[in-house]
Amino acid sequence: MVREIWNVSSEVRAKCSPLNAMTIGVLALQGDFDAHRKRLEELGATVVLVKKPEQLDQIDGLVIPGGESSTFLKLLGQAGFEKLKEFVRVKPTFGTCAGAILLANEVENPKQTGLGVLDIRIRRNAYGRQVDSSIREGKLNGSPIEMVFIRAPKIEHVGPGVEVLATEGEDPVAVRQGKVMAATFHPELSADTRVHRAFLDLIRST
Ligand code: GLN
Repeated sequence: MVREIWNVSSEVRAKCSPLNAMTIGVLALQGDFDAHRKRLEELGATVVLVKKPEQLDQIDGLVIPGGESSTFLKLLGQAGFEKLKEFVRVKPTFGTCAGAILLANEVENPKQTGLGVLDIRIRRNAYGRQVDSSIREGKLNGSPIEMVFIRAPKIEHVGPGVEVLATEGEDPVAVRQGKVMAATFHPELSADTRVHRAFLDLIRST
């Protein structure tokens, strides 16, 4: 009976809603936002490139891509930063590399302000100049996965409310706390779609 489905709670309906009913924003101030756009579209999501703070009102979740976290802070400006800070407290957000740095509670090398929504301490450019970028194999929920690191930060400390989703050697490289997900590598540059799918599942479950 078609009518019956409208009797279920809005929460249940949201979980059943098709993926293309979701609009995901990708912060497009700088960095590799287009690779995220392509990946999310491949997975069936509707994507909006977010260039203005008011666009945050139209999206169900946000990806903050890699780039240069200090440049993001400059380009956001005070008003953009405050609006983003409100957003990440309410809606699912996934930060990769520079995006992970922006979401962290504590940033080192050098110290830098952030959105403070993920209880981790993260060190910028932690692999040194010799290992500017590398492709390594890590584990996502225990299964092998390719990881592309580019001038990557390292998560040095993980708070009690933070779940480690992926590791490389001994290091946590993808984490989640509530609606916030972060990875120090670039899943948008590998063919494997599991990390983005995990973010879409997170949006669907909130
Ligand atoms: N090194 C950059 C930073 O510190 C992050 C690099 C990246 O996003 N690929 O912000």
